Amino acid sequence: MKKSRIITLLLISVLLFSLFMVGCGNDDNGEVEEGGESPDRVAIATGGTTGVYYPLGGAFANIINDYVEGVTANSESTGASVENVNLLNDGEVDFAMVQNDISYYAYEGIEMFEAEEPMENLRGLATLYPETIQIVADAGAGIESIEDLAGKRVAVGAPGSGTEANARQILAAHGLSYDDITPDYLSFAEASDNLRDGHVDAAFVTAGTPTAAITDLSTQHSVVLLSISQDKIDEIVSDYPYYAQVEIPAGTYRNQDESVDAVAVMAMLTVRAELSDDLVYEITKALFENLSDLESAHARGGDVSLEGALEGMSLELHPGTQRYFDEME
Ligand code: GLU
Repeated sequence: MKKSRIITLLLISVLLFSLFMVGCGNDDNGEVEEGGESPDRVAIATGGTTGVYYPLGGAFANIINDYVEGVTANSESTGASVENVNLLNDGEVDFAMVQNDISYYAYEGIEMFEAEEPMENLRGLATLYPETIQIVADAGAGIESIEDLAGKRVAVGAPGSGTEANARQILAAHGLSYDDITPDYLSFAEASDNLRDGHVDAAFVTAGTPTAAITDLSTQHSVVLLSISQDKIDEIVSDYPYYAQVEIPAGTYRNQDESVDAVAVMAMLTVRAELSDDLVYEITKALFENLSDLESAHARGGDVSLEGALEGMSLELHPGTQRYFDEME
């Protein structure tokens, strides 16, 4: 081959390689260029209207509408965590409020997601606040411990909720399964109405405290919150990586004179992997620059912070979010 042809071929190779590198989205400054989708409307999956996802997801939508130019956000009520990871993975919503244990199971394709493909489209944006597994019982139903739920009618959470998964695990830790109770798949609002009217004896509610459904119920009906014994808490915390021990302080609900020993997971904001890095960067920035808007929507919004945003993070971060966190370090 002639020397000049070799040089020409070399030059073409260098040119093609440079074009390939630009296509990969990295420029000389190491900044990630806009690569993925940048829709002008985004949807946010929350939970039932009497939970905490709903008001905080609504506040997140308002932050996007108020501070991110050219993007309109809508939040929608859903059956919560399990439904939300499905909606997000299928691209039917762009952001979702989810429990950190459920997003982990979904991403790995384990536990309740064992029969499905791992949901690889899920990315983390931030962990937000603790969600306590609250077990509320009719004060007149003779239920003092979790074991006493045997033979009772129990609201175990909406179909597609993280609550329902937690109910199953907490019962199992006490040697009980759905064969030992009569499970009712109810939203927080339905559980609260049915408990008040005597149609169910107890309800599981995994949510930030105070949860409106329980606050409302406790003003209309005499209820008790069940404590989990210390040895069972130790067992649960060591069996499942995302449970942590917490206390529901006395006075969280009407007539609750004593603190209650419980376990909690973390609520987190998740985002679809295909959204562009620039869009997710702008939205992450808007969120952390306007945290007081979350606090005005619900007390637990006040727990959200940049410092705590990776505590219990169970998913790989979206690169747009990672860029914002790197800049803030
Ligand atoms: N963590 C609950 C669930 O996924 C929903 C909590 C809420 O709506 O605030 O089942």
